[in-house]
Amino acid sequence: MGSADVQFECIKCGACCKKKDLLVTLTGRDITKISVSLGISAEHMLRAIDFYVPIDGESIPEGLKHIPQTITENGLSIIALKKNDEGDCIFLKDDLCMIHEIRPGACASFPFVFKKDTDGINWGLSAMKEICPGIGTGPVVNESDLLETAQRVLEDLEIYREFSEEWNSSQGPQIAENLLTIILSDIRFIV
Ligand code: SF4
Ligand code: SF4
Repeated sequence: MGSADVQFECIKCGACCKKKDLLVTLTGRDITKISVSLGISAEHMLRAIDFYVPIDGESIPEGLKHIPQTITENGLSIIALKKNDEGDCIFLKDDLCMIHEIRPGACASFPFVFKKDTDGINWGLSAMKEICPGIGTGPVVNESDLLETAQRVLEDLEIYREFSEEWNSSQGPQIAENLLTIILSDIRFIV
């Protein structure tokens, strides 16, 4: 992965916010950032998210394999922002993101994907790249900016993975509201 001559500029078309099968996955830091910035409690935050349970026997899409899953009354699932029946993200209004400044890492990354290997951080284009008209327009991507985003996104995921493993093996009631309450009080997620 990684090519210095990809051109990209987000033209704010909102296509990635409206794609039904493109999950807007959340980490603990994403959840905390949204909750603190909007001043909403764990109970209210629950209304903005969904729990996606991979169907038994179906292979999980490649892009979701590195996303930690947590146990709640919904089963072992991936937490993501709620979408309406058409697939629009709950924070999309008139094709604009209402939480742009604090948007989740998954949104800040798209249409790029990041991976940490033994040789360092690599980047490439998402398997859903065809929905993004911003690719091929604008300036050539600034690799150091991209790697800065990658570093932050991968670190968030790593911390969230550590937390998810602790949560999944904990003895307390593994219910969604508890999970969010604990995430919101975990110092690792405060940025
Ligand atoms: S699809 Fe591409 S150009 Fe459109 S909003 Fe998403 S990242 Fe920006
Ligand atoms: S949080 Fe904002 S950028 Fe991300 S999918 Fe929703 S509307 Fe789009």
